Amino acid sequence: MTANHTIENESFSLGSGPKLNTTPDAERLIRKQETALGYRIMASWGWGADGSGHITARDPELTDCFWLLKYGVPFGEATIDDLVLVNDVGEVVEGSGEINPAAFYIHAPIHSSRADVVGAIHTHTPYGTPFSARAAPLSMSSQEAVAFHGLQGVYDGEELNVTDLATGQRIADALGQGRLVIMANHGLLTVGASVASSIGFYLNAERAAEVCVKVPDGRVISSNSATQVHRSVGDEINGWHIFQWLVRSRVGDSTVVN
Ligand SMILES: [Zn+2]
Repeated sequence: MTANHTIENESFSLGSGPKLNTTPDAERLIRKQETALGYRIMASWGWGADGSGHITARDPELTDCFWLLKYGVPFGEATIDDLVLVNDVGEVVEGSGEINPAAFYIHAPIHSSRADVVGAIHTHTPYGTPFSARAAPLSMSSQEAVAFHGLQGVYDGEELNVTDLATGQRIADALGQGRLVIMANHGLLTVGASVASSIGFYLNAERAAEVCVKVPDGRVISSNSATQVHRSVGDEINGWHIFQWLVRSRVGDSTVVN
């Protein structure tokens, strides 16, 4: 295991959590590793095989800038050297290459509106996209859905291809202080206090959407029960742990992105 290893395989346990009090350089590396691993996790299901989808990671020092995969790299081949840093007007300021313009228009207003958001992920998934055609929130009919109890919004605009910041701002407004925004007729987007948790919760959202699509009339638990269950499944650390499992089960050797 190298010093730059994100995932502490030997010591991973129920008590594991994000590294705290890291230097900016170390924190940047972690965020970049989690971003590249997140793209590979998406690819492990074939998500983004057509190039749709993006993960962004706020820079720990240049906080109005974020990292994402440059355009054209297959998600399953993402490494930290394939990431570029983009500023608040969409210019690549570190690394070289193009970016998907929609990634900037959707993610920039979210990062600028929410100082607490480090990571954000969006792609078009087998259940998230069909569910989004309902233009309605997830029903609290699964454990995974409860992670978004009180933390989901619906963007019902008809700009299915986001081509300007004004539309992105309306999506950010629909997200509000939440964790999930369902973009109607488009797909899901989740955010987190770490890149890892945003990705972990994205999987939760996709699974919850699957339940809603397959069992549209499923039982919905009470608001009181949802509030209680949310305290555990809705904790940021749960999203972080899901990500560690995804790396271990969908990618394997996390050093492939270094
Ligand atoms: Zn999209």
